[in-house]
Amino acid sequence: MLKIEALPAFTDNYIWLLQDSQRRLCAAVDPGDAAPVQAWLDAHPDWHLTDILVTHHHHDHVGGVQQLKAKHGAKVYGPATENIPARDDALIEGQRIRVLEHELEVIEVPGHTSGHIAYFHDDAQEPWLLSGDTLFAAGCGRLFEGTASQMFTSLQRLAALPAETRVYCTHEYTLSNLRFAQAVEPGNADIAERLEQVIRLREAKRITLPSDLRAEHATNPFLRSAEPGVAAAASQHAGRPLATPESVFAALRAWKDTF
Ligand code: ZN
Ligand code: FE
Repeated sequence: MLKIEALPAFTDNYIWLLQDSQRRLCAAVDPGDAAPVQAWLDAHPDWHLTDILVTHHHHDHVGGVQQLKAKHGAKVYGPATENIPARDDALIEGQRIRVLEHELEVIEVPGHTSGHIAYFHDDAQEPWLLSGDTLFAAGCGRLFEGTASQMFTSLQRLAALPAETRVYCTHEYTLSNLRFAQAVEPGNADIAERLEQVIRLREAKRITLPSDLRAEHATNPFLRSAEPGVAAAASQHAGRPLATPESVFAALRAWKDTF
């Protein structure tokens, strides 16, 4: 069993630190800044950073990679089709890697960037997913490089993982995402309840992650574009009929961009 701890970075990033406490080994996910990871290692001097997992090339995800690798000799994993600093292992769809004695499957999820990957640990009891800037709690990443169609397909793939899968995304966007979700589905009781919980957590300056896919299915509008109520809201906002879940998704994404 790994412990997965959030190290806050910048204003709303989390660097997930996977920890094998028996062997005192750890791995950092998307270290956009070396400082929070280094501070943790300084406070835990008998631990070693062995691996760095990168989901995509944006600076807030790779800015600390080179420094951490230089200091600790950690092995750097990242998507093959993106420019990742100091990458040792270039990953493609379906590849399986072993990190801290846990098998991770690489899932290509283009949309936010064109080479974005997610890492999935398939475990009968507690599967987990490192989703980067693709699937957020109650939201999804902006389309910087990919198309709405690509992102729709990517999210569908993640949504098909087991419902109990815990979702570790890279940003604390849950509150604003749920405000948008509620605008799309004002009558959705699950969204209202989650929004209440998240307001309380944020008032106490607490983290709202990880999420899990069961909660995402119930409250994330970007996974709910086949729901008649979501389709109706999206087409009303777009001012035209939307015939397919994919076109509903594209309209939701455009709506959220200016929400
Ligand atoms: Zn990004
Ligand atoms: Fe980011």
